[in-house]
Amino acid sequence: MEQHFGLMNASRNDLDAWWMPFTANRAAKRDPRLIASAEGMTYCTPDGRRLLDGISGLWCCNAGHNRAPIVAAIQDQAARLDYAPPFQFGHEGAFALASRIAALAPGDLDHVFFCNSGSESVDTALKIALAYRHARGEGGRTRLIGRERGYHGTGFGGISVGGLPANRKAFGHGLSGIDHLPHTYDREQQAFSIGEPEWGAHLADDLERIVALNDASTIGAVIVEPMAGSTGVLAPPKGYLQRLRALCDRHGILLIFDEVITGFGRLGFAFAAERYGVVPDMICFAKGVTSGAVPLGGVIVREAIHAALMQGPERAIELFHGYTYSGHPLACAAGLATLDLYRDEGLFERARTLEPVFAEAVMSLREEPNVLDIRTIGLAAGIDLAPSADAPGARGYDAMVHAFNVNDLVIRISGDTLSLCPALIVSEDQIGELVEKTRAMIRAVA
Ligand code: PMP
Repeated sequence: MEQHFGLMNASRNDLDAWWMPFTANRAAKRDPRLIASAEGMTYCTPDGRRLLDGISGLWCCNAGHNRAPIVAAIQDQAARLDYAPPFQFGHEGAFALASRIAALAPGDLDHVFFCNSGSESVDTALKIALAYRHARGEGGRTRLIGRERGYHGTGFGGISVGGLPANRKAFGHGLSGIDHLPHTYDREQQAFSIGEPEWGAHLADDLERIVALNDASTIGAVIVEPMAGSTGVLAPPKGYLQRLRALCDRHGILLIFDEVITGFGRLGFAFAAERYGVVPDMICFAKGVTSGAVPLGGVIVREAIHAALMQGPERAIELFHGYTYSGHPLACAAGLATLDLYRDEGLFERARTLEPVFAEAVMSLREEPNVLDIRTIGLAAGIDLAPSADAPGARGYDAMVHAFNVNDLVIRISGDTLSLCPALIVSEDQIGELVEKTRAMIRAVA
């Protein structure tokens, strides 16, 4: 008999066609983990099981799932205006959302370029950096600097400045003229850190080495995640980002913060830039801007960069870049409703208040079997499990599967590192539940 999965007329054969992203497809399709509906902190499977969402979708549903005002805004927008071309035309929602986002951003980050994802936001920011250099007659400043263990999405720009070997090695040389700063994680110095580790600010100084080697006149921009999320929740060492800002200023290098995860409340502020008191030249955002409900990303740009590109004849295009769906009406409607929710429910402040509660609860896992390290900051935690001897990543994989099948919990893994990142609406009880489910899962795969 054919097995059904709760999709209309779906059978195992129907699982073949979709090539799932960042997924062990063959294993996943033998044991599919299907989600049928969601509400708040909870997912429902096709057979009616309720699971706790421990990772806000994929670090994105910061206001929780299926929030009524966001759903209503999308429905209303779809009925009024499904689409408007963003090239040479516009619609109210895109202007309104850009203004709202600019108002949330620090300093004179006053201009917003829309795209559809985090990856596109990174490629957009890198291209704006290069176009800015070109416009200023500094066309030699094309070198771009990322960081080891950095994740900046999957475009060719993003994997080039990114520092994850697995995401690069099958895909050729990437962009030329790329350098990487060292990552800031050292277990010996930082084990079981809550918030910003004390050790590691000096690692920013490696930028001086790259400048000495190549000369500042060849360097366009540095891009970092203020807190590296998907590679294991690596908070910036105390003073690191400030030091990086000072070095970039000294050498006239643009500083780009990739806030695709840290934006919209994850660290208790609209942007991590605010938490750390560091004003970057551009901020990449996506995910939380619509609480994951409709794809939307963008780049927030400082006044001087924008102004440098707004030169030339008035009827000439200033930046030859954009997407058919830049500022899509449904995405902008979702974004406006999401920002209202964040404001009306005080969710960024809520994340700040819950941060110590979350940290203490998660740190209670430190004595569990195979736990090598735990790091928490904001409402995010990374838990490193000791790899099993024969197969790195297998324990993490088994943990994720066990969590879904047995503990009614959805988490994220990268290798043997587990990530927890609940929506900002999480209650203290749900934090406890999340930690106890995680504990049971860790014990099960020991
Ligand atoms: N940058 C960062 C810091 C991210 O965490 C991610 C996704 N996790 C991306 C970029 C890519 O975003 P997307 O998957 O929307 O392309």
